[in-house]
Amino acid sequence: MNRIAFFSIPAWGHTNPTVEVVRQLTAQGHQVRYYSFAAFREKLEAAGAEVICCDGAIPPAPKNLDKKLGRDFAALVEMAADTTLALEEQVCRELEDFRPDVIVSDSVCFWGKLFAGKLGIPYVCSTTTFAFNQYSARLMKPRAGEMLWSLLGIPRISRKMALLRQHGYQVEKVTDLLQNDNETNTIVYTSRAFQPMAETFSERYVFVGPSLPERNEPLPRKTRPLVYVSLGTVMHDRKQFCRNCVTALKDMDVDAVLSVGTAENLSALGTLPQSIQAAERVDQLSVLRRADVFLTHCGMNSASEAIWYGVPTVLDPQQSEETAVADRMEELGMGLRLPSENPKDIEEALQKVLSDASFRQETRRIAQSFRAAGGAPKAAEWILSCCKSFLL
Ligand code: UDP
Repeated sequence: MNRIAFFSIPAWGHTNPTVEVVRQLTAQGHQVRYYSFAAFREKLEAAGAEVICCDGAIPPAPKNLDKKLGRDFAALVEMAADTTLALEEQVCRELEDFRPDVIVSDSVCFWGKLFAGKLGIPYVCSTTTFAFNQYSARLMKPRAGEMLWSLLGIPRISRKMALLRQHGYQVEKVTDLLQNDNETNTIVYTSRAFQPMAETFSERYVFVGPSLPERNEPLPRKTRPLVYVSLGTVMHDRKQFCRNCVTALKDMDVDAVLSVGTAENLSALGTLPQSIQAAERVDQLSVLRRADVFLTHCGMNSASEAIWYGVPTVLDPQQSEETAVADRMEELGMGLRLPSENPKDIEEALQKVLSDASFRQETRRIAQSFRAAGGAPKAAEWILSCCKSFLL
């Protein structure tokens, strides 16, 4: 029996892919402790983990978090460093007691990686986005606003790096936090076929694909194509975009489901025609199973879920990481970039994807690579092979 400590950030997109891995490990009799957050406790406990909630350690979210996320990079580094120092005393004491054989930490949950380094515990990086190294990082073309934020943030980042070094963490530069080398054992929840520049990653990177339910139950009969629209769970102030979607969709010969994120976006839509349903949040997997096209912001989870169910896409990325996903989907012929968010462009892009079968064919090709990648069982096997007891 091995003891495994997981760390992640408070985000569904970074937690969900690990749940099946936890279930695999606990089902085999291994002990899993997960440093997570209250919102995820129930789901992680149901998978067999002991959950320790770190909510109190996260500094209060900055004002306008929606607008800042992905742009004010220094704010994210500050938040990560402050969280590390807030958790340090309690977690290091607990880990010395728990004596994990390995720490599995999300690629942007820097505190898990820092504790593993400080305590000399084997570390596995868990990557729910594309894997990034010095080559593929260039694919995240920052937008002008993001570049400016990054430059302005350099002194703030340097101060936090110095503070972490004072506390005994070996971080010379910010890339020591962000990137891993080819020697770091890394799980990536996508396939080598979808990962850009896959050839630059060593065999220490295991591409296990997403682990999603197959859902083989019969589907209700459809008379018209179904369009699904969602810009994810983070970017929330999108009233005009939601209205534009309704304008585009109301005259099309389709049915549509809109996931709009907030009550404000929903009430901005007023009364909707019968063919359009909108909600703050929907059961995305069950909608995707029936959908013929997905207008998406290209969050990694939404992209993976669309591919898994063979749904071609209209691509509307909002941040640099999403742009990298959109670029790859376009390159592989799985989707079409939205030229602008005006109703005419939305309608044209949806029509093109619906009428050209090649988008669906290419999506199904990558879906096959996902199913062949090994999923959660392979991730669990890899984690066990990285345990202290195995390495001795
Ligand atoms: N999601 C959902 N219902 C919704 C909208 C989103 O279940 O109405 C889920 C979606 O299935 C995905 C996650 O929330 O697993 C969103 O993650 P993603 O990485 O796509 O985007 P983010 O919200 O992190 O920007």
